[in-house]
Amino acid sequence: MMMNRQQSLKKLTVETFDVCIIGGGASGAGCALDATLRGLKVALIEKDDFASETSSKSTKLIHGGVRYLEQAFKNLDLGQLRQVRHGLEERRILLQNAPHLAHPLALITPVFSWIEGLYYSIGLKLYGWFARHDSLPKAQWLSKKETFSHIPTLTPQLHSSVMYYDGQLDDARYCLALALSAQKAGAVVVNHISVTDFTKDKTGKLTGVVCQDKDKNFTVKARLIINCTGAFADAIRLKANPTLPLRIKASKGVHLMLPNTVLNSTDAMLIPKTKDGRVVFVIPFEGKVMVGTTDDAYTRLEEEPILIAQEVDFLLDTLRPYLKTCPNKKDVVAGFGGIRPLLAATGDKATKRLVRDHEVEHDPVSGLVSLMGGKWTTYRLMAKDTIDTASKILGNTATCQTDSHLLIGAEKYSDSYWINLKKDFDFDDDICHHLSHNYGTLALDIIELGKHDRLHPDFPFLKAEVVYAVRNEMAYTLRDFFARRIRLEILSWEATLQSIDTVAGLMAEELGWSVAEKEKQITEYQELICNFKIASRE
Ligand SMILES: Cc1cc2nc3c(=O)[nH]c(=O)nc-3n(C[C@H](O)[C@H](O)[C@H](O)COP(=O)(O)OP(=O)(O)OC[C@H]3O[C@@H](n4cnc5c(N)ncnc54)[C@H](O)[C@@H]3O)c2cc1C
Repeated sequence: MMMNRQQSLKKLTVETFDVCIIGGGASGAGCALDATLRGLKVALIEKDDFASETSSKSTKLIHGGVRYLEQAFKNLDLGQLRQVRHGLEERRILLQNAPHLAHPLALITPVFSWIEGLYYSIGLKLYGWFARHDSLPKAQWLSKKETFSHIPTLTPQLHSSVMYYDGQLDDARYCLALALSAQKAGAVVVNHISVTDFTKDKTGKLTGVVCQDKDKNFTVKARLIINCTGAFADAIRLKANPTLPLRIKASKGVHLMLPNTVLNSTDAMLIPKTKDGRVVFVIPFEGKVMVGTTDDAYTRLEEEPILIAQEVDFLLDTLRPYLKTCPNKKDVVAGFGGIRPLLAATGDKATKRLVRDHEVEHDPVSGLVSLMGGKWTTYRLMAKDTIDTASKILGNTATCQTDSHLLIGAEKYSDSYWINLKKDFDFDDDICHHLSHNYGTLALDIIELGKHDRLHPDFPFLKAEVVYAVRNEMAYTLRDFFARRIRLEILSWEATLQSIDTVAGLMAEELGWSVAEKEKQITEYQELICNFKIASRE
């Protein structure tokens, strides 16, 4: 593993790339795959871990946006309508290209009167009409009895509900699959390397990036540099050309995690209106229930946007009228926050009314291309637009291939793959589901490693996954593993704390950590998780 990394770092220093992409979130990993499949020589450089910022902290929905559709009609806004249509087209492609990591999800919107039911029924049927070319079931108005057969924990006060479908993805693993698919196609892909500056020619045009690896610096030469740093895009843009105007208006959104019993269902709930005029989702995810999100302007980009007690109160208050019995603060098992890289419109509007579309900017002075804004659902379209621009600049005529390119693990995968694992290896059902959904047909590579015992008795994660994550998925820190290779950090802070020693032992062996390095990793990560707990309760 360390040898692979050394080889990648060597390539970065000696070769000249067509394209150097800064940032390994959905946008950067998507661009890396698209550009590599068009035959370009690509470097992808991520300062922390793939998806370590916003791309692992989303609501995990692949959607056109029912709220955007409502706003499109209310404001007669064709731009919003176009976004919904693009989102729904991309939903189909995301589900098709990595069916192990993304699947259809039923969402139930409880209503409290007949007239409300009619309103949402018409709206959600229209939403389905925009997606008429895909195979997801269409919206249905459910009676009260039918509603309880889907989600038994809802309040008896409800009148009925409207059920519709969208997609759900494991955001961190989808992003990793994009980065690894790009690598498989020939890109040089590295994490834990930060871009700190640019090299320029006499005219001010960028010729490469200056990178920092722990305490040493090196330069990567590239014909074109693409900035995919999400909420951090302005810092990179201004380094390339200090005269550019700021474009990112960051907004914080949090989610909290509750036990599965809160919904007792495989379906999700959409709360159609919060006090501040938004929607909140209550979604089953990996055996827990995720509730979110919020939307607040955020300026402290250098600090991680963690879940705080007031946000817990707000989300539980929003949930309360919809459930027979509402959980309270002590039921919160984990939580996380992310920063939306929204594109600033003119003026100082509330961030929830900012345009969520994306923009590809080519700065003629420095030559930097920046991909800004957008959402997870449209990452592929965003990457296509960016690499179309890059191709034009570089004179590359190859066309985009990503609409039908299966990501790693998706080859020969089907929904019943977990049953094959069950038949062949006789693991518990939850382990078979987990392995097939996390790794697709690559699950066999993990099983081959042995170490089939669980990391924690309440979760289906295996010790073999630690070894696999280090050897095959570029996991270098405890947090890489807990937060993004498996998702235990966002599922249970307690179980994470209880598993740290075991995982650290296995990682230390694989990565050759000294005793001091291992202890440092353990202490720092324990402190981080304890701080999350404290902040959510104070
Ligand atoms: C609360 C919340 C909920 C959301 N829910 C949804 C949803 O349900 N569906 C949906 O479609 N979208 C959703 N989104 C939006 C979606 O998550 C984002 O649009 C998307 O993840 C942004 O990806 P990105 O790659 O542009 O940014 P990021 O994921 O932030 O990636 C940028 C990367 O650049 C790296 N970087 C920064 N500076 C440097 C540097 N100097 N050198 C090297 N690397 C650097 C960072 O470490 C980071 O990994 C949500 C967003 C939030 C905040």
